[in-house]
Amino acid sequence: MKPTKNSTLEIISPKVQVNDDFIETLYDYHTSQVKRTANGQLQVHPETTTLKIRTGRQVPKLGVMLVGWGGNNGSTLTAALEANRRQLKWRKRTGVQEANWYGSITQASTVFIGSDDSGADVYVPMKDLLPMVEPNDIVVDGWDISNLHVGDAMRRAEVLDVALQDQLYEHLSTLKPRPSIYDPDFIAANQSDRANNVIKGTKWEQYEQVRRDIRDFRQRSGVESIIVLWTANTERFSSVEKGLNTTSQELVASLKFNKSEISPSTIFAMASIDEGCTYINGSPQNTFVPGLMDLAEEKQVFIAGDDFKSGQTKIKSVLVDFLVGAGIKPVSIASYNHLGNNDGKNLSAPQQFRSKEISKSNVVDDMVASNNLLYAPNEHPDHVVVIKYVPYVGDSKRAMDEYTSEIMMGGHNTLVIHNTCEDSLLATPLILDLVILGELSSRIQLRNAKKETAPWVSFKPVLSLLSYLCKAPLVPRGAQVVNSLFRQRAAIENILRGCIGLPAISHMTLEQRFD
Ligand code: NAD
Repeated sequence: MKPTKNSTLEIISPKVQVNDDFIETLYDYHTSQVKRTANGQLQVHPETTTLKIRTGRQVPKLGVMLVGWGGNNGSTLTAALEANRRQLKWRKRTGVQEANWYGSITQASTVFIGSDDSGADVYVPMKDLLPMVEPNDIVVDGWDISNLHVGDAMRRAEVLDVALQDQLYEHLSTLKPRPSIYDPDFIAANQSDRANNVIKGTKWEQYEQVRRDIRDFRQRSGVESIIVLWTANTERFSSVEKGLNTTSQELVASLKFNKSEISPSTIFAMASIDEGCTYINGSPQNTFVPGLMDLAEEKQVFIAGDDFKSGQTKIKSVLVDFLVGAGIKPVSIASYNHLGNNDGKNLSAPQQFRSKEISKSNVVDDMVASNNLLYAPNEHPDHVVVIKYVPYVGDSKRAMDEYTSEIMMGGHNTLVIHNTCEDSLLATPLILDLVILGELSSRIQLRNAKKETAPWVSFKPVLSLLSYLCKAPLVPRGAQVVNSLFRQRAAIENILRGCIGLPAISHMTLEQRFD
């Protein structure tokens, strides 16, 4: 069977069946259950469960609604979709550049599928493993507190080459962000001069307007599925208090009572969930207060976040994993950033910086906790994060990191990394992957193969599969947070492989190591 129409890949297996609606596989899922005995022994019980996994083959027409559409990421995503759709080319100082999706794992990365007769590894594009939304078919809409149309927003962002902007301007100038919820208490005071496109009224009225906007978009565009994604300014954290937002009932009542602590992003998330639309948070704030998690669970609607994992944190979640895995002990991590875009301006305010600092700080926790030979319980490396606003550098963000580790016999190893790149060109492909993988996740279901009459189950509403793309991954209550980039990617690859009946990649290659 061919998992996707245009794929060069065909799966030959009696355990894989395909009809018009589903790819269905019989899959042996291996886990190991660990039990601690009274005398401190660890007993490991390998277990195998045979599952049926099915993936819907009908890919819906997808609409994406961006909160913060007129920002650097929002305008760059819209421009990139159009540039790739029209396969635009433009001249740079160094030659002709073509539109591409570098930085997107679904569009620009490949997955190992096996070895050929000569023993050489064979890879296919990730997007060819399963039917996924094609970027060219995505319809974008959204909100912004600034009334600039997306053409002018793209110019304001100063991200893309001018020769490309000029080819896109006319089309993008027809796209106008819908008025949005502006609450100066949640974003930096320095953003007030942008806020000329706002929804008036109480919080409940604002929530209702956002719901109307979603319905209006669905109806006018004819999209079959909508994902709402926050790429607006980072908000301050909101308080989590009993009586305010710790249950869905409290949250709904607080919205009706116009309680000031209900943030714009939480209102967007509530409206999105109530319209049955997946909601993804690309910024660090605590949009997903416990009452909102309740709401998503009650309505069985996906939520995912928090904060795009684009640059410095992505490297950190690779480097610390490597060091700790190598038996080397990171003891201090000092991370400096400076940037000059509007995100940097907003983050120059203490409360908004604090949200980012929290999001960036916990990223090494799981890797440190994995090695009790190096770290005592509750021992952590010193870890500081500094962000400074330097307008002149614009979207070209600079990140400097110093990692000091203890090596053998009290020696030290210090690594210094300097990373310069256009911030929004790293973040935009992540938005594409978040919505494509978020949509795909809604078509994957499984059940125990021995219980043919049991209902199919979907991913839990807190969609932790998107952790690879998030700095501070949101996971279902009681689940383990995984920050390690390798583990996060392996989860995506292996689940996609499982959906077409391929085993998890083990890298054992016994056939090449033994005669
Ligand atoms: P930006 O400031 O250029 O864009 C944000 C947009 O949101 C602005 O146009 C602003 O007018 C709008 N806005 C603010 N409050 C709003 C509201 N309540 N409703 C609707 N619109 C609102 O920022 P950006 O560079 O596009 O980044 C967007 C977000 O993504 C930021 O929170 C940033 O921290 C987060 N983020 C970015 C990156 C990255 O770019 N590499 C990485 C991780 C996280």
